[in-house]
Amino acid sequence: MAVPKKKTSKSRRNMRRAHHALPKTTGVECPNCGEVKLPHHVCGSCGHYDGREIVAQGEANA
Ligand SMILES: [Zn+2]
Repeated sequence: MAVPKKKTSKSRRNMRRAHHALPKTTGVECPNCGEVKLPHHVCGSCGHYDGREIVAQGEANA
């Protein structure tokens, strides 16, 4: 049976757990208008995705 050879110190234990507390990085810059948008989502500011205009402006918030 596999048994840990050494007791994990408070420091090592906390370093391991620290990864779960990292803040989520949600938001990338839109290559078209430079506005911050969600990754893999159509830009809410200009309606562009993958270099093309997906949502026509004016209709989006009408
Ligand atoms: Zn944009």
